[in-house]
Amino acid sequence: MANKTTIICKKCGEKYFITEENYPMRDKGRLTCEKCGYVLKVWNCGAVYSLEKSSDEDK
Ligand SMILES: [Zn+2]
Repeated sequence: MANKTTIICKKCGEKYFITEENYPMRDKGRLTCEKCGYVLKVWNCGAVYSLEKSSDEDK
């Protein structure tokens, strides 16, 4: 089951959703802010994360 959490870039304040899913193999990777390149999340475990941009408050 996917687990969705909200993350806010500490550098530029951009808001994202991170979807976490269990992955049968040990994997590592990182997610960076599309706007400023700040590293939002680094992992090295049996899960995979994907980034989804939230522009709800971009008005
Ligand atoms: Zn940023």
